[in-house]
Amino acid sequence: MPNSKNRIAVYPGSFDPPTLGHLDIVFRAAKMFERVLVAVADNPAKKHTFSAQERLEMVRGAIKKVPNAEADVFSGLLVDYLRKKGIQVLIRGLRVVSDMDYEFQLASFNRTLYPDVETVFLMPDERYTYFASSMVKEVARLGASADSFVLPDISKRLKEKFESRRD
Ligand code: ADP
Repeated sequence: MPNSKNRIAVYPGSFDPPTLGHLDIVFRAAKMFERVLVAVADNPAKKHTFSAQERLEMVRGAIKKVPNAEADVFSGLLVDYLRKKGIQVLIRGLRVVSDMDYEFQLASFNRTLYPDVETVFLMPDERYTYFASSMVKEVARLGASADSFVLPDISKRLKEKFESRRD
């Protein structure tokens, strides 16, 4: 039984844009924890297609039917955000074995900075294991539909984003 501190989990990421794989992870986490906070990283060092505000809006739209999930934006170190919120559980998605290298590095890094933090890895449904936001953007940039990978609203936004760039 989780103690009171472990009833809330943070699912951090870029979500540029949020995909059906991300959403699948939110569904799974929402079954395990009382609350899931999807935390959109506002990291000026990373080049994003969508602004933090746009990514937050898309995540909010995607999770609106999950009653115990909410979204927020954070900047700076994730562990500082977790400390501020009093949250000690992190969710990350693992698609394929090759994700493990990076994810283990990140989890160890976060644990060193904040020893009380536990990272929980969840596997998405097999239908979502082979794609990442970057590939979905490439599909949209090349003029194809992203409907197989993201919700319809987000597919529309991708289309508009890349159409305006082609002008
Ligand atoms: P970051 O830039 O922090 O890696 P992402 O938005 O790319 O942010 O990913 C956030 C988390 O979601 C990561 O743990 C990543 O492995 C996971 N993830 C990304 N795409 C998928 C997917 N298709 N299915 C399941 N998990 C995914």
